[in-house]
Amino acid sequence: MSTNPESVQTHRNYIGGEWRDASDGSFDAHHNPARISEVTGHYPRSTNDDVRAAVDAAEAAYPAWRELTVYARAEYLKRALALMGERIERVARIITLENGKTLAESRGEVVAAIKEMEHQIHQGTRDLGEIAPSALAGVLAYQYRRPLGVCAVIAPWNFPFNVPGRKCTPALIAGNTVVLKPSSLTPNVGLEFTRLFADAGLPPGVLNCVTGSGSGAGESLLGDARIKAVSFTGSTKVGIHINQLAAGRLVRTQLELGGKNPMVVLEDADLGEAAAACATAAFACAGQWCTSTSRVIVAKKIAGEFVEAVLAKARALKLGSGLDPATTLGPVCGTQQMKNVLDFIEQGRREGARLLAGGRRAAGEGLGDGCFIEPTVFGEVDPGMTIAQEEIFGPVLSVFTAGDFDEAVAIANGVRFGLASSIYTRNLEQAMKFVEKTEAGLTHVNMMSAYKEPQLSFGGIKESGSGIPEGGRTGIEFFTEHKVAYLKYRS
Ligand code: NAP
Ligand code: MG
Repeated sequence: MSTNPESVQTHRNYIGGEWRDASDGSFDAHHNPARISEVTGHYPRSTNDDVRAAVDAAEAAYPAWRELTVYARAEYLKRALALMGERIERVARIITLENGKTLAESRGEVVAAIKEMEHQIHQGTRDLGEIAPSALAGVLAYQYRRPLGVCAVIAPWNFPFNVPGRKCTPALIAGNTVVLKPSSLTPNVGLEFTRLFADAGLPPGVLNCVTGSGSGAGESLLGDARIKAVSFTGSTKVGIHINQLAAGRLVRTQLELGGKNPMVVLEDADLGEAAAACATAAFACAGQWCTSTSRVIVAKKIAGEFVEAVLAKARALKLGSGLDPATTLGPVCGTQQMKNVLDFIEQGRREGARLLAGGRRAAGEGLGDGCFIEPTVFGEVDPGMTIAQEEIFGPVLSVFTAGDFDEAVAIANGVRFGLASSIYTRNLEQAMKFVEKTEAGLTHVNMMSAYKEPQLSFGGIKESGSGIPEGGRTGIEFFTEHKVAYLKYRS
């Protein structure tokens, strides 16, 4: 087994302001998805005791953190953001080594995270409540939000830096303390995220990070009765499981889950723009954005021309290690993920979809040891096929054709997911009709599905999400409870 001398280290959990090994000394190796034989680091396989210690630390830190003014909390968080700005390259490299995405994509993730976090800090200093005119003379009637206590953040591997940023920042600015469990596919990103706060001088215990598997460390965290809220991003299957566990203790959950995002392209669309957006949204980050476009539904008349334009973009992609600046398509995140995607491709073939591009594990020079999948496009996909219904989460696009607008919308809505959708058309009426009818938490007109801004909420409907969504004003709402007071100040 080869190792990368630059990065192989044995890492530690961050608990109560200290870097600690697992209580039983156990570790798991992490492998570079661009070169599986290369170990990138060793990470604590956190035990029940480690998770309990992290919750102990968060519980102990809570009263003092909560007592600080929001401006004092903001100062700590802004210091961490300033460090993030200085360390973009370092963090981006860690993201690429663990997740596989290109360095440009990793830098983009860090920059996006900084913007999200800035917004949440700002929001925390102004969005705290309201005063209502009372029906009684001499009574001040008002409501405000207060923190919940110790919150759990369970993060995925596809945006391993931005997702913790989007969740932990509103939790912390509101006065909660946090235990973060990163995905075991991206443990170092989670630890590095935490390190930025540690180096910024955040008081011990306010933010803790424990690595390990979902079924191990993740379950232990969910099982701790002191956890007041769970913010989770990941698969629908695990999200439902978390919701069931949490419901038993009336613990609130924020679940950002899977998707099967459609793009509709009508006859009057700007085909060049639509094809470019489709290829970007389907293949960037190897198709592993939660908001990736995985289905494109094209008006019959223009389907041939549109598909040719998308195929040209797919052919132009350069597969390779994300560390190579020439690479435009990195590996998928690990061998299990690669197997899942290849199995879906195989099933698509078996069910009769026509393979227009890709379809295999890529085997070119320098690729054989990595989790590389050719950019794949299926044509003649029937809405009932498995590849039309299930989230594939890889560089795989399915093309459908539709006779008219209503058929396109029916195909777009004919899945159990509802995260993001988009339409390309110059017809304002059709565009607005689509915004109304499409079953998705966020919708884009003449823009790709993989776009969001920090000042607005982000969350899916149907089986793509549940609970108060992240971001915008609702990010802090999730991590706070409402308190109402009536105060009589004169008789
Ligand atoms: P996942 O398998 O559901 O895992 C997500 C997180 O949950 C990981 O940290 C995982 O740990 C942990 N976990 C797994 N089983 C657990 C359990 N029983 N108890 C507690 N924690 C558990 O999802 P993923 O494969 O990492 O991420 C990809 C999925 O995330 C896709 O479905 C994608 O659509 C979705 N996603 C959604 C959004 C959104 O905003 N809607 C954004 C990004 C991604 P381990 O990794 O260690 O198993
Ligand atoms: Mg998983």
